[in-house]
Amino acid sequence: MADTDHAARLSERQAQLAADRPSERECRIAGCTTRHRRHLFACRAHWRALPFHLRDAVFAAYRTEGVLSNAYLQAAENAEAYLENRDAEDVGEVFA
Ligand SMILES: [Zn+2]
Repeated sequence: MADTDHAARLSERQAQLAADRPSERECRIAGCTTRHRRHLFACRAHWRALPFHLRDAVFAAYRTEGVLSNAYLQAAENAEAYLENRDAEDVGEVFA
């Protein structure tokens, strides 16, 4: 039956797309292996550790300009730098 064939091909294609684009990825912060949903900036712990102004800058750039924009890249870099310095401080490496 044609409809069934179509449905089978469709679900096969969807499975293929899902495999090509995994719904999760590893946190972008160096040394963090936590996995999080793909559309999020970082894992929950790192996102929550960001000061409000950095979190807001990432979110604002994401909403207005998109993830490929310079505004987003800059905001993401600032947030990453903050978190990586903070993590380094935690283990006493920054001012050692
Ligand atoms: Zn993380």
